[in-house]
Amino acid sequence: MLTIAIVLVALVIAYFFARKITDPLQNIFTNINKIADKKYALSPSTLPIFNEIMRDLHAIAARLERNQQKISKHRQGFYTLLSSIQESIWIMNTKGIITVANESFENLVGNSNLKDSYFWNVIRYKILYDFIDDIFHEPKTTSREITIENRYYICSASYTAQTKETIFLMYDITEIRSLETMKKDLVLNVSHELRTPLTSIKGFLETIEPKAANQKYIDVIKRNTERLIRIVQDLLNLSKLEQMGDLEIEKINIAEFVDNLKKIFELTLKESENELVVEWPAELKFLEADYFKLEQVFINLLDNAIKYTKGGKIKIRFSQLEQHILIEIEDNGRGIAPEHLPRLFERFYVVDKSRTRKLSSTGLGLSIVKHIVNLHAGNIEVKSKLGVGTKFSITLPKHYEKK
Ligand code: ATP
Ligand code: MG
Repeated sequence: MLTIAIVLVALVIAYFFARKITDPLQNIFTNINKIADKKYALSPSTLPIFNEIMRDLHAIAARLERNQQKISKHRQGFYTLLSSIQESIWIMNTKGIITVANESFENLVGNSNLKDSYFWNVIRYKILYDFIDDIFHEPKTTSREITIENRYYICSASYTAQTKETIFLMYDITEIRSLETMKKDLVLNVSHELRTPLTSIKGFLETIEPKAANQKYIDVIKRNTERLIRIVQDLLNLSKLEQMGDLEIEKINIAEFVDNLKKIFELTLKESENELVVEWPAELKFLEADYFKLEQVFINLLDNAIKYTKGGKIKIRFSQLEQHILIEIEDNGRGIAPEHLPRLFERFYVVDKSRTRKLSSTGLGLSIVKHIVNLHAGNIEVKSKLGVGTKFSITLPKHYEKK
């Protein structure tokens, strides 16, 4: 009996001692949980031996609270910035959920509750839907021009592998577009208006030429008139090309195409004492392009090659790459100094102004070439060495999707 009584008393004493320890310990665990829940007002320690631990916990809580405030200030700043941006911005994760959307985008889409929505539930414009859908199926960094309700946008997507999210940005280019159109219309109209009086001046010059007292002056006027007519014609060609945005893609028989080219240049080749060699592999019989535009590319490039090469060799080579056709046009003429190469495809850019005057050049040929290649979703590069020669390399897609 006595033993039992002693054990019982010992148990009761042990229980009270244990409670004295476990309660403050429980208090510490509760405080840790509070910190985890981002609640930083902690309850004080009830046992002096835990005071030190509590001091540390208070310090941790204070630091975390400061960091938390900093983060929310930054986040607030980020959202203020986002909503003040005129361009539409939104972020989509790999599940197709819009995780961030700014006000401009919500206004464009006509829905003020885009956050946490699946894009297929909220995007109604088909053209925009298709773009997002493509990125959703194959996340990548790319951009596309789209038109929504008569406004033009560049829509770009940048995929971040780290966060597995895509950031979208839509940039309104309507104003730029209308300025471009105005500029093009102006060039077209002015060149059109200039053509008639210039042709008439040329006609009258030819009439008075036989009776002219001073042939030297007549020659100067004639040369400059012809030069002006050429500039106007080139400008008209360029404007026409820009207006005819659509390509008429057809299957072009390379052999027939080359024969035709050789006919066009037969005389100039003979006069300049240049030899033209054209090569292509037997298995490559056709290429896809807009016939007349591609012909213009070759005419301009061959015209240059012949103009800037004397008694040399001009080579055209067609070959196949994986997805593209490569076209190389190479001459061993006078070449171009490296400092001119970056600007060569600009409108009116000529290398040697004094020389080109004699050759009646306007510097529009290569810009027309580049424009046509771009229309074909192709690429053009130039390599040249002074006194050695020049090579233009064009890549065009092998196939075009039928519209
Ligand atoms: P246009 O073609 O409008 O009559 P252009 O030939 O001067 O005038 P581009 O065809 O645009 O104009 O060429 C721009 C410049 O590049 C030329 O003035 C010339 O100096 C240089 N160039 C182009 N092709 C060659 C080439 N094959 N060899 C040497 N220089 C070249
Ligand atoms: Mg030219």
